[in-house]
Order: sequence, then C-alpha cells, then structure tokens
Amino acid sequence: MANKSKFQAIRGTRDLLPADTALWNRVEQTAREVFGTFGFGEIRPPILEATEVFARAVGGDTDIVSKEMYTFTDEMQGLPDPTDFSISPDHYVDAVEQAIKAGQIQVTDSNLKSLAQLKAQLGLYNSRNDLNSTEEAELKFRLSASHLAFGESISLRPEATASVCRAYIEHNMQQMPQPVKLYYMGPMFRRERPQKGRYRQFYQIGAEILGGPDAPAIDAELIEMLMTFFDKCGLQGTELSINSIGHAGDNCRRGYVAKLKAELEKVKDKLGADSQRRIETNPLRVLDSKLEQEQPIIATLPRIADHLCDECKAHYAAVKHELEQRGVIYRENWRLVRGLDYYMRTTFEITAQGLGSQNAVCGGGRYDGLVELLGGPPTKGIGFAIGEDRLILSLQESGKGAAPQGRDIYIAWMGERAYATAIRAAKDLRNAGFRVELPPTELKFGKALERASKLGSRFALILGDNEVADGQWTLKNLADGSQQKLTEQALLDYLKSL
Ligand code: AMP
Repeated sequence: MANKSKFQAIRGTRDLLPADTALWNRVEQTAREVFGTFGFGEIRPPILEATEVFARAVGGDTDIVSKEMYTFTDEMQGLPDPTDFSISPDHYVDAVEQAIKAGQIQVTDSNLKSLAQLKAQLGLYNSRNDLNSTEEAELKFRLSASHLAFGESISLRPEATASVCRAYIEHNMQQMPQPVKLYYMGPMFRRERPQKGRYRQFYQIGAEILGGPDAPAIDAELIEMLMTFFDKCGLQGTELSINSIGHAGDNCRRGYVAKLKAELEKVKDKLGADSQRRIETNPLRVLDSKLEQEQPIIATLPRIADHLCDECKAHYAAVKHELEQRGVIYRENWRLVRGLDYYMRTTFEITAQGLGSQNAVCGGGRYDGLVELLGGPPTKGIGFAIGEDRLILSLQESGKGAAPQGRDIYIAWMGERAYATAIRAAKDLRNAGFRVELPPTELKFGKALERASKLGSRFALILGDNEVADGQWTLKNLADGSQQKLTEQALLDYLKSL
C-alpha cells in the first residue's frame, strides 16, 4: 500500500473532517442556543483532573475508574535530581521536606512512606562504598524513580460531572443565586473496546443543575430542555425512559436492595458470571443486564417502585405530572438504575434510532450527595450527559446530516490588473459574509471554471482585462450557465438579495 501513511490515529480515536464537523458545529450551536434559553451558562473544566476526583465521584469500583481511565503520574517539578550524586543526600531529603511543608507535596500516607524509603535508600547508598556495579545500578534506578513517587496521579476525564462539582466547590458557587445551571461540551476518554458508536475518545454535551431545592419541576424542566434540544437537532425516533431509584435509606432503596439480593440468591445458578458477581458487589446493576437468558428471570424480580418511601414516591409522581404538563412523552422503565449510592430519585435515558446495540444517546439523573462527597456542602444536583458521537451518527443515518458546504463565489481572474481587483473583490465579498475562493495562481478561464464546479461553487466571478477596464464584472451562475454583467456595487447588491 504505497500511499498508506505510516501513522494513524490511535485505536478508538478518530479525526473529524470538515465533511463531519459542519454537523458537529450545528449540533453544538443548537445546544448553546437551547441551553441558553433555559438560563444555563457554559463551563469549560480542564480535561485533566486529580485521579481522586473521579475515584470518588464515579466510584473506585466501577469499570470506568478501575479499568478504563487513562491515568499517569505527573512528575513533581522543582526538586533536585536524586540521581545527581554531586548533591548530598541530606540536601535532597531537605528539599523534599521543604516541599511538603510548603504544600507542594501533599502530606499523604503514601508520600510519607516514599520519603522514609528514600531516606533509607540514600543512607544506604552513602554508607556503602563496597557496592558492586549491579547493586549500584539498582539503587540508582530506584532513586531515579523517586520523583515519580512524589508526583500527583492525574487522569484524562472519563466524564465531566465530577469536574463540574469540583469547580462548584472550588469557586464557592454556593454563594451565587441557587441553583447554578451549567453546561459543558468536549472530549471524554475511556479505554473501552471500540465498536460502532463506542470510542476511546468520545464527546459529551452535558448539563448540571447544582444547589437550590430538589423540586420535581427542576427534574422535569431539565428533561424538557433535553427533549427540546433533540427535537431542534432533528433527532429521529427518540424514546425517553424514566425511573426513580429512591434514596439511600432503609425504608427505601436500601430495603429494596436487600430484598432484591435475597431474591437474586435464590436464582443465582441460572444467572451468568457477571450477574453472579454483581449479587455481591452491586445487586442493582443486575437489572442492567442485556443477557438474553437472564431476561425472563429479571422480569420476575421485585420492583423498586413498590418499595419507595412516601417522600420519594411523591417526588416521582410529581416529576411525571410535571413532564405531562410540559407535554414531554416518556415511558417508565423500572430497570433503569445507577450503581452508586449518591444517585437518587430521578434517573432517565434517551435512545434514538439507527444506532444498533449502542442506542443510548443520553443518560442522566439526580445525585444529591455528590458535591458533599467531593468535600463541599450538602448540595442538591441533577444532570445529564449526551453522547455527541452517537447523536451525530443517528442524525447522519436518518439523512439529517449537514449538506456539504461549497463556495458561494469562485473568482476566475486573468492578468495582473485583474488580480489586484480580484483581491479587493474577495475582501469585500468575504466581509459581506460570502464564502469566496480566490485561486492563488493565474488559471485559464476554462480551467478556473472547472475548479469552481468541483468545489461546488454557486457562482464564478469572471475578472479579465475587459471587465476591469469597463467596470462591468461578469457573474456566471454555475447551476444554469447563465451570465450577466454588473457593476461592482450592483453585483454585491444582487448577491446579497439572494
Ligand atoms: P455515561 O457517562 O456512561 O452515563 O454515558 C452518557 C452517554 O455518553 C451515553 O449514553 C453514550 O451516548 C455516551 N457514551 C458513553 N461512553 C461512550 C463511548 N465510549 N463512546 C461513545 N459514546 C459514549
């Protein structure tokens, strides 16, 4: 394969080219407009965060954090190099201790342990002048790794809710009028097995409402906004599923999970390995199972709706009523759950057509305990994340892709004088908002018109010596081949009037 480039985008990532990005931009613009009308402002958190933010918020036991996160150690800057043996070990240890005092290195158990180990290794290195070369190499290697020991573990974000909550706390947003309504869009990273609609770098558009009450109208309005957005995008075959998973109380979800677990134990033998494991680790997640053979069993399991406490039941009923008032069509799916404790009450998911098995375009829910879990004050919260890649795929499959953008005007110029006029014409036309192609080198008119058609131009503006001398420019309509002569001003007026 002679032309094949040696480098390719890495597995699970891809280039989005102009043919695609036109639609991506339209979708993002629609999100900005719709979310703006609901009073949301944009937040752009960094793509890198301390690993701990995700470990806490997404859950250290989840696949996302334990298996799929791109995590690395960011080397500590500013310490002397421990393998520079011209500096004394004491000096190095001093520098580390100073950095701990100054807060550059966090006082964590692991960092204190690393310091103790380093002291021991440096002491050993200095006390022995009889080291053989292998021993010396090994010690030097261990010392050289010590920068990393004090580094900070950071990760590429696998989702952005954790970052938004971290920012809410960091910027004291609880002092602002509540609730705070934020949206974001951008790339997320998960080391998943790539397939259609599933990537390792994928994009989400999401929104969060933080603070204020947990009034059912908030849940309903957020969902209304989401459905308005999908509608404006022209997404086909959307289905909204909702559920309530109650709250983490004995009279509510905890009681239900205990009952569910007991029932699952009874049918354990008939379940697959994943579900068997989940009976112990996270029984609710068994309800997520897509395994064919488990479906009839799951259908007979107790349902959370029958075990909600009175308050959660009332909240759920009110959310449904509020959705109806807003004309939002939903169906209930009692199996729509979230595995983590701080998720509560409303959960929802939207599926769309044309996506095969990866047909969820959006997931969301209420998470009243999350801000507190990240070290902030008790704060209500609800949000969603839309899978932008899947949204785009679905739009493309249903023929809602953006039409390819050709040029409005191709300027076919010939001759030195015409070129100067062409440059000025290009500037004026672009200022007026037209997409203009000005060929960088002189082309015969025939060749220029051929290029103009290839680029999908609507018009060719023909500028030769005659046109410049007469002040009458030729405008050729490339769709029907018709031509007219116009003064510069008349030409601009004509194009603007179209
Ligand atoms: P989650 O953050 O897992 O609740 O996912 C929210 C939405 O993001 C899903 O409904 C998908 O549309 C999308 N999504 C999640 N993971 C991926 C992925 N690996 N590739 C593409 N889209 C994804």
